[in-house]
Amino acid sequence: MKTITCLHCEEQFSGETPEAVQMAMLPHYKEAHKEVINTVNEEGKKEWFAEFNRRWEAAAEE
Ligand SMILES: [Zn+2]
Repeated sequence: MKTITCLHCEEQFSGETPEAVQMAMLPHYKEAHKEVINTVNEEGKKEWFAEFNRRWEAAAEE
């Protein structure tokens, strides 16, 4: 299990896999970061996943 901080605020999400954490973040993004969901382009998505993966790799297993 790893805990990742939201890329747009300080909220934290935990899960066994990167996909599980991303699924947990999605409703949060829809609620708290609607403008990100609504305005992100393909390049922005790539950057989001790249940053997410960096954080996932850096996070300690709990
Ligand atoms: Zn957030």
